[in-house]
Amino acid sequence: MSINNIKFILNKAIQSHILCEKEILYLIQSKESKKLFDIANKVRLKYVGNGVHLRALIEFSNYCKQNCLYCGLRSDNFKIIRYRLKLKEIINLANKAKYYGYKTIVLQSGEDNYYDIKKMSKIISEIKKLDFALTLSLGEKTFEEYKAYRVAGADRYLLKIETTDEILYHKLNPGMNLKNRMNCIENIKKLGFEIGSGIIVGLPGQTLKSIVKDIIYLKSIPVDMVGIGPFIYNPDTPIKNINSKNLFELSLKIMAILRLLMPDINIAATTAMETLNNRGRIIALQSGANVIMPNATKAIYKKYYKIYPGKICIDESPVHCRICIENKIKSIKRYVSNDKGYHCKVNLLSQ
Ligand code: SAH
Repeated sequence: MSINNIKFILNKAIQSHILCEKEILYLIQSKESKKLFDIANKVRLKYVGNGVHLRALIEFSNYCKQNCLYCGLRSDNFKIIRYRLKLKEIINLANKAKYYGYKTIVLQSGEDNYYDIKKMSKIISEIKKLDFALTLSLGEKTFEEYKAYRVAGADRYLLKIETTDEILYHKLNPGMNLKNRMNCIENIKKLGFEIGSGIIVGLPGQTLKSIVKDIIYLKSIPVDMVGIGPFIYNPDTPIKNINSKNLFELSLKIMAILRLLMPDINIAATTAMETLNNRGRIIALQSGANVIMPNATKAIYKKYYKIYPGKICIDESPVHCRICIENKIKSIKRYVSNDKGYHCKVNLLSQ
């Protein structure tokens, strides 16, 4: 059978969870995306079930020393109003998240050196006292910093590779280095964190071939969790606007392919997907995803964490977001998972 046959490729993916670059590209370009989404949904059910893990996202600082051309938190963006939360405020939000029934906290910020090892370790150990699984998403740090976070009790770390296209990466991330970011991901893994990563889909200058390489890279790590976000144009950045019309479907396809290649990992239905499509996260949950990260940041700060415009539910309170998402999950006959939602590795050879 020819490789140019979606059935053949999908069957191969289900049986071996391995695809070559050409096959991945074929799936991305195929017009028969519904078949891909349906298979990814079945694989999701078989390996991770119907539970949806909720991770309460606390955006605790929007200061950033980096200057990524696409991101609203970039240091040269003087239009953004900057804020930093104190330890007390963070713990207060975590306590509320506990009350709403969350099992995991995700602490996210720009790359903000104000929170040194001492401050961060204190925040981590205080949150861990509340019996949460804790994910950090603080950007690139030294091995010593990652180690201190781990020692203080953090369980997971989220660092998107953004793109593995070296030329594009260096153009869009001035002063940063792709090898260093990959090295950070290796260090995070070495230290025993669960590692989450992912890419931005539709960055100006990004090619489908480079996205294929991104997918292969994510599988090679291999990641425990993945988040695929479509690029959303931010007028407060120097990057030029692009037509984002097809980016929702493209992101969905990439996410679905990752489910086929890594059937037991946690995959997020991302907020950026919902920004492009008002049913985006539900559609993603039905195309391979099993994780949602509702915002648990206070509404007054939420609007200042403006990575890109059009962020959903900007004026909603954390409690509103929690109730709303549970209703959406139930509407598609899924349920909110009651455990901490670690990556449960399945022996693929015995399947
Ligand atoms: N500083 C941390 C986390 C904050 S940024 C870090 O570097 O990991 C979180 C994520 O937002 C980034 O990893 C990037 O993938 C995404 N992002 C930034 N700008 C974006 C844009 N314009 N459209 C879509 N996603 C964007």
